[in-house]
Amino acid sequence: MANNTKIEWTEHTANLWWGCTKVHEGCDHCYAHALARRWGNDVWGNDKPRKKIKSVWTDLLKYQKAAKTAGEIHKVFVGSMMDIFEKPMPLIDSKGKLLTENTGELRDKLFENISSGMYPDLMFLMLTKRPSNINKYIPDAWKANPPDNVMFGTSPVNQATSFTLIEQLLKVNGKRFLSVEPQLDNITLLPWLLTGEIHWVIQGGESGPGRRPFDTDWGRNLKAECQATNTPYFFKQIDKVQKIPADLLVREFPDKVIGCGSGSMCNALAQLSACKRAPAIVGFQL
Ligand code: SF4
Repeated sequence: MANNTKIEWTEHTANLWWGCTKVHEGCDHCYAHALARRWGNDVWGNDKPRKKIKSVWTDLLKYQKAAKTAGEIHKVFVGSMMDIFEKPMPLIDSKGKLLTENTGELRDKLFENISSGMYPDLMFLMLTKRPSNINKYIPDAWKANPPDNVMFGTSPVNQATSFTLIEQLLKVNGKRFLSVEPQLDNITLLPWLLTGEIHWVIQGGESGPGRRPFDTDWGRNLKAECQATNTPYFFKQIDKVQKIPADLLVREFPDKVIGCGSGSMCNALAQLSACKRAPAIVGFQL
């Protein structure tokens, strides 16, 4: 099955609804908001409803089937048109009719499906600009035992948002990643990378109309910090126009926390010592 996204660091995206409210300066040129306006969807802001996306449940089953068939773990970015940890908001259907359920109920359904083991070959990348809400909305059981197939992530864009958002993310138990995009200033992540509690860093500049400049030395600095702390590092883009210099074109994935790529068989192979990478995977401690 083909990937359903052009985002380089994931195989798929999944959106339970469409709409959001801007949080910080990284949201200024939000692509999902611009697209909503172009399509006539009034779903941005605290006083607007969100639009339910019905197809997500059948899509997730298709992604699971394709990953299992391929014998791979496929990554699913939740969500490119929404923020999964936004407070519960009213929902409308595709015709604009107000529904009785809200976005919090859709989120609960996804978490229940994940808890029930419905998607063993998918790794859910839950990226939010509201990491202080994660512990508020995840199931209680996840706080002590986070699911193996979920990574929680946040998006700092400068040093100030790094301090706030990463400190909030570190209060969440589980696998964690950062998507530093659109990066707007030089950032050091060293204080947090040195703890070993951040398991993947993605970095990129802004693209699209009105894009703000990205200095490739910001990329080199962060790449060096990741390399010095053995943190997998993925450079996504300067601005989607300029060519990425060869020394910055590093695209690593967090294999130790995602798994070896043997899909459902991964743990079984590791336990049987039939996997060359078993020591790294089994011995990895969060
Ligand atoms: S949090 Fe994400 S989806 Fe929401 S406005 Fe900001 S960039 Fe857009």
